[in-house]
Amino acid sequence: MASSAADLHIFFLPLLAPGHMIPMLDLSILISARGPRSTIVTTPANAKLLRPSLSDTDNPNIHLLTIPFTSDESIQLPENLTGHPIPDITPEFFASLCRLEPHFESLFLTHRPDCIISDIFYPWTATLAKRYGIPRIAFHGTSYFSFTVMSVISLLRLYESVSSFDEPFLVPGFRHNIKMTRSQMSSIVTSPPEFMAGFPASLKETYGTVMNTFHELEPAYADFFKSFSDMRSWNVGPVFLCRRSVDSLRNRGGAAACEVFRWLDGKDAGSVLYVCFGSLARFTAAQLREMRAGLEAAGRSFIWVVTDDPEAEGSVPVTGEEEGSVGFVIKGWAPQLAILEHEALGGFLTHCGWNSCLEGIAAGVPMVTWPLFADQQFNERFLVDVLGVGVSVGSVVNSTRPEERTVVVAERVAAAVEAVMGEGEEAEERRRKAREMKEAAARAVGEGGSSEVDLGRMVEELMALKMNRMKG
Ligand code: UDP
Repeated sequence: MASSAADLHIFFLPLLAPGHMIPMLDLSILISARGPRSTIVTTPANAKLLRPSLSDTDNPNIHLLTIPFTSDESIQLPENLTGHPIPDITPEFFASLCRLEPHFESLFLTHRPDCIISDIFYPWTATLAKRYGIPRIAFHGTSYFSFTVMSVISLLRLYESVSSFDEPFLVPGFRHNIKMTRSQMSSIVTSPPEFMAGFPASLKETYGTVMNTFHELEPAYADFFKSFSDMRSWNVGPVFLCRRSVDSLRNRGGAAACEVFRWLDGKDAGSVLYVCFGSLARFTAAQLREMRAGLEAAGRSFIWVVTDDPEAEGSVPVTGEEEGSVGFVIKGWAPQLAILEHEALGGFLTHCGWNSCLEGIAAGVPMVTWPLFADQQFNERFLVDVLGVGVSVGSVVNSTRPEERTVVVAERVAAAVEAVMGEGEEAEERRRKAREMKEAAARAVGEGGSSEVDLGRMVEELMALKMNRMKG
């Protein structure tokens, strides 16, 4: 009998991209802190990425197991989306995700976990869990806001009500005035790929959903999701607040670039802008030049994270501080959580990936929003129109292909940075709201907070399910 949480064993299967793997790892840390055993199942190259982050946690109840990744013989795909030239879940990549099933099942049969928590991009885990009589819980890598707004736009085909790509349409049914354009829609909304046709059926077989958000952040949208999807859901975020030690903050998701902290330590409180576009972004050389000119023109100290993008060669300086510049460049992986928590931080220029949004919110910093693709344009509306903590830089074309996005010119970059970092009533109001959100996030994960309670409920419910199964 599952008499205690320690008898519960959960298999985690994250999507093979940092923005999904990192929060799922944090979720496993949170769950295992309550007793259950967590096993993260991933492919060999991704296990290498996750292992250093795991070694910072002192919980012996979290394990990694690997299964082989295979792609179609004609197209050799890297195991992680970061290595793909275009960071899209293509039919070929999706096929590779489906090929994980027999290997996952064989691990499942050896270890017999009591629950599977898997990314929504593994619809087959719902059928597998059902076959063996255990619950599958789906992990959504986005917010309630973006999920519901996307669903409404897609169902009502609102983007067809306008005559051009840049004519705004109103998203009805919500208290906030949400206006979007067709150019801001990801293709998942306007023309979902065929492989997603089976997702609704798999969600019907799914026991519940776990979300990296907290109720007070988006109550109306959380309630809307529940009534709309008719599904149990638990809000347990921000999950990264499980990381408390400096090492754990600095090494999350990759090796830390420590010199940046010496540079930050020399700056005044609230004076530095942190610029990062997540793990998958690519830019044209022209856009990188405008970005750099805009950041320099704003005249505020900044940290600029640039991926190892061939386009970046020659367009941006090498790692470190550059003579005559007010910026510090990090090429490669930045210790984002630790930078955001530094007291010198005054603003965050973000691509609006959901993890970055939540990390900015929990750090209490106002944001410059520069969405690129996927749900990022929706998350931008959430930061700007719903929370009132963001200023848009004006990136209005949703595309994974950098050459399809219109170039944001230096003047717009500088103006948005100034609006966020400068003085004035509006900037102060934004900072006040950001501070309020930070406090709300800390309360949610603190003792008796909404996320802490929801997480406890989820674990108890899983234990009760196990007991019933064993009695049966
Ligand atoms: N991240 C980081 N250092 C980097 C780039 C990204 O720590 O240099 C982390 C960031 O803190 C976040 C995740 O990677 O947790 C990126 O997820 P997000 O949803 O923001 O964007 P994505 O990479 O999925 O576009």
